[in-house]
Amino acid sequence: MACKHEDLKATVGVTRIENKGRFMAEISIVCMQCGVPMQFMGLEPGLNYDGATVSLDGLEARIGIHPRGERPNPLQKLAGYSIRNHN
Ligand SMILES: [Zn+2]
Repeated sequence: MACKHEDLKATVGVTRIENKGRFMAEISIVCMQCGVPMQFMGLEPGLNYDGATVSLDGLEARIGIHPRGERPNPLQKLAGYSIRNHN
């Protein structure tokens, strides 16, 4: 009988890129009943500190993160807010 994947476990790791002062959240999700990992949809493979990407096998989503206040949030972007001197 096929697993309906009713018990999914998400794991989030955070990577700090030492010499760049950047951070990434790395997300993976696996079914606890059958062990099959979930594949992320709609993300480009690769690495982008300012966006979301996926590993080549599609099983790990990587999302650039920042401490609050160091970049405009989506609402501030809509309002035309900008921060100077960002690296
Ligand atoms: Zn399953």
